[in-house]
Amino acid sequence: MPELPEVETIKESLKQKILFKKIKAVEIFCPKLIQFPDHIEFVKNIKKKKIKGLERRGKYLIIKLTCNSNLVVHLGMTGQLIYSDCPLELDKHSHLLFHFEDASQLQYRDVRKFGCLWLVKDGWLRFVAGLSQLGPEPLSEQFTLEYFQKLLDKKSIIKYLLLSQKNLAGLGNIYVDEILFRAGISPERFAVDLTLQEGEKLYHSIRLVLEEAVLARGSSVVNYIDGEGKKGSFQKRLRVYRRAGELCFSCGTPIKRIVLAGRGTYYCPKCQPLSPSSRRGNKI
Ligand SMILES: [Zn+2]
Repeated sequence: MPELPEVETIKESLKQKILFKKIKAVEIFCPKLIQFPDHIEFVKNIKKKKIKGLERRGKYLIIKLTCNSNLVVHLGMTGQLIYSDCPLELDKHSHLLFHFEDASQLQYRDVRKFGCLWLVKDGWLRFVAGLSQLGPEPLSEQFTLEYFQKLLDKKSIIKYLLLSQKNLAGLGNIYVDEILFRAGISPERFAVDLTLQEGEKLYHSIRLVLEEAVLARGSSVVNYIDGEGKKGSFQKRLRVYRRAGELCFSCGTPIKRIVLAGRGTYYCPKCQPLSPSSRRGNKI
């Protein structure tokens, strides 16, 4: 569930709290979340490491440690990283507890336990599942209109294309639905059928929606909170996501929900028509 704006917000909030702190110890209550190395090595290797920096790539949080080590965290569906200056209250969903030398703590909490953690040296980052196959960052200079128009030549349903992390890093169900609404494109259309103008509109919508969501510190739809336990505010500005039956803010038509690739998909049938438009390139 946490997508680019949420992981970016967690990164920024944690940066202010844990940068340059030294890890004294870690307690693991759910070893299966540790992907590499095994949990015993993980505990041993992370001790005495200092936090050098925090980075984000797609939906992955990369905590840079001394000795060329990296703690990589993927929050899955419901993962949370919660920092506290004093001992944290734990519950049955608290699966890891990092203790810093100054007695502050960082808890990894995850209700559904789909999250993953890795502790790897710099040269081994490419072995973290999915990390090396990520497409460009949508808010970076590498994500150009030219790249995006080429991507749209695929015979893929536009929603699937945007969800694939290999095409574009960091988008998930919430933001793909919001982006398609802003661009006025039905989630069921084929990428290759979009006109060049629609492709350009979609490209700008991706950047616009993500920039707004980062500024709003993410969307707290289910249980998302940042590193300090604060909620985001973009959920108040969602125009289609989880609004089935409610009226479209632009045209008053009830928002529809369909299932695409097993995911609930929300759109306005009037603002996002399934029109049989001309094929790409025929219309400029
Ligand atoms: Zn509408």
